Amino acid sequence: TSSGSGGGGVRFELEKETELRFEVEAGEKVQLELLSGLAEVFGSELNRNKKYTFGPGSKIAVFTWQGCSVSLTGKTEVAYVSKDTPMLLYLNTHAALEQMRQQAERDNERGPRVMVVGPTDVGKSTVCRLLLSYAVRLGRRPTLVELDVGQSVSVPGTVSALCIERPADVEEGFSVQAPLVFHFGSTTPGTNIKLYNKLTSSLAEVFSQRCEVNRKASVGGCIINTCGWVKGSGYQALVHCASAFEVDVVLVLDQERLYNELKRDLPHFVKVVLLPKSGGVVERSKDCRREARDEKIREYFYGFRGVSFYPHAFDVRFSDVRIYKIGAPSIPDSCLPLGMSQDDTQLKLVPVTPGRDLTHHVLSVSCMEDEAEAGSPVCGFIVVTAVDTQAQVMTVLSPAPRPLPRHTLLIMDIRFIDLK
Ligand code: ATP
Repeated sequence: TSSGSGGGGVRFELEKETELRFEVEAGEKVQLELLSGLAEVFGSELNRNKKYTFGPGSKIAVFTWQGCSVSLTGKTEVAYVSKDTPMLLYLNTHAALEQMRQQAERDNERGPRVMVVGPTDVGKSTVCRLLLSYAVRLGRRPTLVELDVGQSVSVPGTVSALCIERPADVEEGFSVQAPLVFHFGSTTPGTNIKLYNKLTSSLAEVFSQRCEVNRKASVGGCIINTCGWVKGSGYQALVHCASAFEVDVVLVLDQERLYNELKRDLPHFVKVVLLPKSGGVVERSKDCRREARDEKIREYFYGFRGVSFYPHAFDVRFSDVRIYKIGAPSIPDSCLPLGMSQDDTQLKLVPVTPGRDLTHHVLSVSCMEDEAEAGSPVCGFIVVTAVDTQAQVMTVLSPAPRPLPRHTLLIMDIRFIDLK
């Protein structure tokens, strides 16, 4: 299927309902160009004769419903055409959701609330992106709820909700303007499952309130992306999420056991659907995930390719801020003060004494002026780049110039080493 060169690149002729999968080599860039026909990348249409650039490690599928020819320029690790894709099943899923939206519109009800679940590396995020882009292309305004604290749309260690108004950018994904973000603080829900469930409930509440005042948001419904942790408390967190959001549909990718468990444990009116994963989904190593997280943080401060941001570095006096960690380490029940439960300790704001070990930590700037509580939104992030205990100040990297907009900072387990 690949033949000769098109504009210096390798040309691929794709038949209808096939996809070209490629991975960009480390340290390289690859340019993709649609030469003729129609094609899309994870639900976003390609423009003809426009060059799309993908950075090192990108794993991309160019799918065509009608047939097309494309060219790739640059070093790919692999590039092959596959006829075997679940795209038709995904499109049917989208069509079923769209019918639910039409019905919601007619009957003055709410649109579908969909939870996408499955183990790691089955393409959950990709399916979410696809369904959202298809919906928005039909003029819907669905909401993306991101509960994957490891690979968030925003900075890692957070959960968020964002209203989708246009298809994902082919190169960059969804633009994250004004999302609603909550601080979680680490990349696995297991570090504080109480907090994780509480944040899920908070997001569900905010979303429901929005649906009450915004008809388009209500009809658009939501697509919830979840973590790949599907056992024990991770499974319980999925059940909790389904009930908090009152989901109508659960899409289970790839795992029959999980499908059966959810069918057993969720109310009968919830449609649980098993979908195959795409053979194109690439497993990612721990290192690969860490790099992707690092890249997200870097993008938050420095921008993305075309758009450069210029972050600020300045000193913050310890006495001008209050730093907290959410959740005290759990202690045996018998040692808890009278009338206090384990839940209270996991949601408690524990003051952090500033010291050298703050260096490189990512801190969320809480929107709360004074008494922040676990589950209040975040208005931005900073990174501590240096600490001077003598002078009682820390140097921070911040997207905005001094002063900090708020004084309440929440510390994450996550670190970022600024190499710029
Ligand atoms: P996580 O374990 O982080 O929750 P996930 O299940 O959400 O992962 P994705 O992030 O959707 O998985 O996909 C993993 C990787 O595979 C991504 O880099 C994505 O771009 C790539 N990918 C998905 N589908 C395809 C495909 N059909 N062809 C090539 N690459 C793909």
